[in-house]
Amino acid sequence: MPVSRGVAIGRAVLVASSWVDVAHYFIEADQVGAEIRRLKAARDQVCREFEALKLDVQGDTPAELVALLDVHLMLLHDEVLASATRQWIEERHYNAEWAVAAQLEMLSRQFDEMEDEYLRERKADLEQVAERLIRTLSAHSGRGGWSALGPVSCEGDVPVVLVANDISPADMMQFKGGVFRGFVTDVGGRTSHTAIVARSLDIPAVVGARDASRIIRQDDWIIIDGDAGLVIVDPSPMILEEYRFRQRQGQLERDRLARLRHRPAVSLDGQRIQLLANIELPSDAAAAVEAGAEGVGLFRSEFLFMNRGGRLPDEQEQYEAYRDVVIALRGLPVTIRTIDIGADKPLDRMSLSELRHEHSLNPAMGLRAIRWSLADPGMFMVQLRAILRAAQHGSVRLLVPMISHPGEIRAALDMIERARESLRRDGTAFGDVAVGAMIEVPAAALMLPIFLKHFDFISIGTNDLIQYTLAIDRADESVAHLYDPWHPAVLGLVASTIRVTRAAGKEVCICGEMAGDAEFTEMLLAVGLRSFSMHPSQLPAIKQRILRTEIAPLAPHATLALEAEDPRAVWASGRLRALTAIPQAV
Ligand code: PEP
Ligand code: MG
Repeated sequence: MPVSRGVAIGRAVLVASSWVDVAHYFIEADQVGAEIRRLKAARDQVCREFEALKLDVQGDTPAELVALLDVHLMLLHDEVLASATRQWIEERHYNAEWAVAAQLEMLSRQFDEMEDEYLRERKADLEQVAERLIRTLSAHSGRGGWSALGPVSCEGDVPVVLVANDISPADMMQFKGGVFRGFVTDVGGRTSHTAIVARSLDIPAVVGARDASRIIRQDDWIIIDGDAGLVIVDPSPMILEEYRFRQRQGQLERDRLARLRHRPAVSLDGQRIQLLANIELPSDAAAAVEAGAEGVGLFRSEFLFMNRGGRLPDEQEQYEAYRDVVIALRGLPVTIRTIDIGADKPLDRMSLSELRHEHSLNPAMGLRAIRWSLADPGMFMVQLRAILRAAQHGSVRLLVPMISHPGEIRAALDMIERARESLRRDGTAFGDVAVGAMIEVPAAALMLPIFLKHFDFISIGTNDLIQYTLAIDRADESVAHLYDPWHPAVLGLVASTIRVTRAAGKEVCICGEMAGDAEFTEMLLAVGLRSFSMHPSQLPAIKQRILRTEIAPLAPHATLALEAEDPRAVWASGRLRALTAIPQAV
């Protein structure tokens, strides 16, 4: 499944989830000697540790343990292993930790293919030795994890693309500004949070490739076609040339669209459309402004709570993060969504096996988003106070995710009021906020009038609305073909939410992935949507669509499509008829 557009060409870097924490960066050519010495020093240290351990354990220790330490020592001294690892440093300029992980990946595969069970099981020894070596290297380097990834910097760098079975959204976050030009995962769906974060990195990506991490070998050349959802392994020179051409074309197209940045989004029949940005971190605010967004329609605040080793941001830290976004947007509205953790966004890093375990318990239906916040009122209060304080610096809108029960409406609004009171009591300055609700659960869409009585605005989270309407886990590639935004039930709920909210004189926006998908722009305009929120990189293409659309003639076709068994087909033919008379102005 294609999840992030464009073409990436590079050498494959395979990472197992347990290696995600390994620092990956390129070293300069003149650092190769020093890096090899660093590797050797770490190896010597681990050898000394094993020797000491052997002395310690001899006597009353089982002979197998001593034998095991001997195997580990033998592996460390193995010249084939050492020279292959050095090669990654010399030829690819990988840092030492990355070189060890890359070589381990290569060898693991060879072990997996061995017939002899005894030899196959030696893979675990190899992994333990490599892990210890990497830990020793990292302890001395002061650089840790993916956060150490710098931009591709040294001369003659080989572009690299990431291949993994799975990556959590939190780990994905750490790739921002990193070395990877693209990525492929075996699992995942189009609107899984990992895919959404990948899109926000703006690098070509394909998910749900099932066997990719098994078939692709470390260092293979691969092409990722993020438009078609293709991964080409070991391409021929002719195919490579074709894709290099497409890459250049893609860049030209992006440059052309970027020129629309400051042009207001007005349809051919004069309807003014609001285009907002989705962001994950305060540092994304600059890209939102740069892309010409008229505000932030969705700040996924939960990403402030990730990759922190379990320590949550306190009120002051959150306040500063929200305030920075508000100031960066210079008076434009900033919609801060209260924390949406749970499901595929655990509060802090968990091992993948724990995540899988969570999956088996159906966490998408569990303690997530507002349910989590109401279950932890202390944490919720800290966040609400921080948002209200940030509101004194500009225009802030507070958005509550995933409400499905009238009781949750009352409880959330009550907490917001209590946060205001506590700030008043302290004498702490705060500002006014509009309070909105996300419509992400069918129950919410079906009881919209109750929401409209209590909230100032509505934001439709189509990613979850589709997931919960169709009972399709949005992160599960085995049912991804059934995750259908064109489903009549989904379109019906989206259209009625837009219509009823507008009729009540309140604002309605879509902040799910549907808003940034040009396939839906005209349809959404035709059913009355006037505010779209998406990742900044998607803004120019959607704006171009709007500039080319005359909305009024499309409305009757939308009505027909909404009543059809196959809305996509009915819409496509009706749209064609409506468009024949319209000149292409942009
Ligand atoms: C949605 O569900 O559409 C949405 C915008 O929220 P998230 O993708 O963060 O769940
Ligand atoms: Mg959602």
